Amino acid sequence: MDDTFFYQCVNCGKNWDNSIFRYLCPICSATNTDGMPPKGVLFIHYSYSNIDDKLPIKDLLFSLWPIKNEKSLPPLKVGETPLYKYSQLGNEELDFDLYIKDDSQNPSYSFKDRASSLVSAYAKENQIKTIITASTGNAGSSLAAICASQNQEAIILLPKSAPIAKLTQVEMYGAQLIKVDGNYDKAFNESIKLSEEKQWFNRNTAYNPLTIEGKKSVSFEIFEQLNEQVPDLVFVPVGDGVIISGVYKGFEDLMKIGKIKQMPIIIVVQSDKSANIIHNLNTEPLDFPTATTKADSISVDVPRNFYMTKYFIEKYNGETCEVTDQEIQDAAYKMSSSYGLFAEPASAAAFAGFLSYKKQKKIIKKQKIIILNTGSGLKDISSAQAYLSTED
Ligand SMILES: *Cc1c(COP(=O)(O)O)cnc(C)c1O
Repeated sequence: MDDTFFYQCVNCGKNWDNSIFRYLCPICSATNTDGMPPKGVLFIHYSYSNIDDKLPIKDLLFSLWPIKNEKSLPPLKVGETPLYKYSQLGNEELDFDLYIKDDSQNPSYSFKDRASSLVSAYAKENQIKTIITASTGNAGSSLAAICASQNQEAIILLPKSAPIAKLTQVEMYGAQLIKVDGNYDKAFNESIKLSEEKQWFNRNTAYNPLTIEGKKSVSFEIFEQLNEQVPDLVFVPVGDGVIISGVYKGFEDLMKIGKIKQMPIIIVVQSDKSANIIHNLNTEPLDFPTATTKADSISVDVPRNFYMTKYFIEKYNGETCEVTDQEIQDAAYKMSSSYGLFAEPASAAAFAGFLSYKKQKKIIKKQKIIILNTGSGLKDISSAQAYLSTED
């Protein structure tokens, strides 16, 4: 055990020391009922007052991670993705600054590599050779890629129905692929059973707290790429709510060490056919209808990180935006044809959210707008093909 970090439950607020690795809060997760989001997801917090805020941003980030040696991170280039700035959209001049953070340029072509990278590094420092995860597709293909680069073994559980590119990636990276006859929730439960039985490290999203920590790196990069300024609006595509929690956690850490004074407005963008975070923010009892969006990476019945997402949105006045599948497809085409950035549908949802805000005139002159491009369009060719054939 060391005193550089501790865990804190988002539900009961209790702190837990790091004498053992912890997944969920032992108290709050004991009372979980099936079909509901887990209550005991954990934050990782640090001794912020001991952090030297004069360090370069990259070193600051590293000092706010629970690993000891930077060399434990994969040799692949994870994060440090481009932030493109635009003053035009088609022929239209924009009176605000539009930025796209292109995380499709990660090694496995999605944002998920930020989480896999930290999980893998932690495993390496703790002599763990095998990592397992359940996934709708991208987390699995990401973990497979990262483990391949680190000489670690990856066991990936995916629903049989995952897009073929994502299944193919897992196998090409040499991971063990277990196709689950059922949905993501079934894969999730099976992966936990397996990791408990075999003592494998589990990367499941919103179960392993390192997933949120890994994802926070994007906020440090955005802050640095904007010459140490905070953006006004950040559009994030949301399924389980881990990316958005990572974005919040990153800015919150920057606030805790005194680098920034205010939180940007962060916008939860969901498909109206999978809006199970947005619809449950202000209602009781919680209700989780089956998601039917074609944007597979944000098609989530029970959002695993619901409580943390809700916590952040309430604390920092986050906003929400629902988009239709048609708007997502139109946005994917607009983003590709305007900027040469071909995004998978889940990722294009963020751009659709931005277009919806713009149309409603909710963007103010001179604002700095960030859109996260979370995954490459080559991961799901068939939905782009379907769109092109209906537009012919
Ligand atoms: C996983 C994923 C998301 C959604 O992230 P959550 O943490 O589930 O909210 C969005 N876009 C892409 C491409 C993803 O792979």
